[in-house]
Amino acid sequence: MKYFTIPIFFFFMIFVLLDIDQSSSIAQTSARKDSTVVVLLGTGMPRPNPNAASPATAVIYGKYVFLFDAGSCVERQLAAANLPINGVTALFITHLHSDHTLGYPDLIFTSWVMGRKNPMPAYGPKGLQRMTDNLIAAYSEDIDVRINGLEHQTTEGYKINVHEIESGLIYDSLGVRITAIPVPHGNWKKSYAYRIDTPDKSILISGDTCYYEELVKHAAGIDILVHEVYSESRVKPENREGGEDWPKYMKEFHTSDVELGKLASLIKPKLLILYHLIRMGASDEELLNGIRKGGFTGRAVVGYDLDRY
Ligand SMILES: [Zn+2]
Ligand SMILES: [Zn+2]
Repeated sequence: MKYFTIPIFFFFMIFVLLDIDQSSSIAQTSARKDSTVVVLLGTGMPRPNPNAASPATAVIYGKYVFLFDAGSCVERQLAAANLPINGVTALFITHLHSDHTLGYPDLIFTSWVMGRKNPMPAYGPKGLQRMTDNLIAAYSEDIDVRINGLEHQTTEGYKINVHEIESGLIYDSLGVRITAIPVPHGNWKKSYAYRIDTPDKSILISGDTCYYEELVKHAAGIDILVHEVYSESRVKPENREGGEDWPKYMKEFHTSDVELGKLASLIKPKLLILYHLIRMGASDEELLNGIRKGGFTGRAVVGYDLDRY
């Protein structure tokens, strides 16, 4: 009996070691393979800020990485978070504003140069296919040199399988369900929040949206709400040159701290994470005071790049 058991044990150990090797960087991000982790890769907005990259949020489930938005420097932020730089499991774009997509070409091409061999799935609003096609056309000379020159890059690894989405369940695979929720974001025809349900956590990522109470019904029972925010007390026309429309713009495109406090008091997440921080000079304390003023008494934190929850 033991003559069979020993070789089988070694065979099994080789499989275990191979698996550990492939997912070693991921293993550090989650204590258990089935535990879901949110990693804030970019908590900023369009303004270049050394301490807050443009929006990008990773949700990790086991060895799978789901990326929400691709702000500039997204590959650098993935590297900083010790996440794969050779492609994510799937990308989800909330809307096509440049601060959410300037890292898209970075993700497409750097992941390829770093070893991606297969097309990567990307989900997002109508227009994402055209953006993708145009980016690939813009980099056609790079693609040609890398494939036909001495680098011998693979011929499929820069490609993207684009899924232009409407509302509802858009992803149901690997134990993860992702639902797209249309949200109002000023003049944008299509902007989405995403709800992510894994076996152990439910998360809602707002993307860019004004105060939108409809989110309450889509957010039932969530553990984590990752929501954009601006400081209401700092929006004053006199604080900005030619800023007479500024408060109106903010109200129609974004959600203030006080409004978010009200929204969170209705949703009641176990944890509220503020991101896409439009501070205009406001401190963490000022933002969190706004949240309290709005009526949310639960746990709320100001997000920082590379924080994990
Ligand atoms: Zn934005
Ligand atoms: Zn936007």
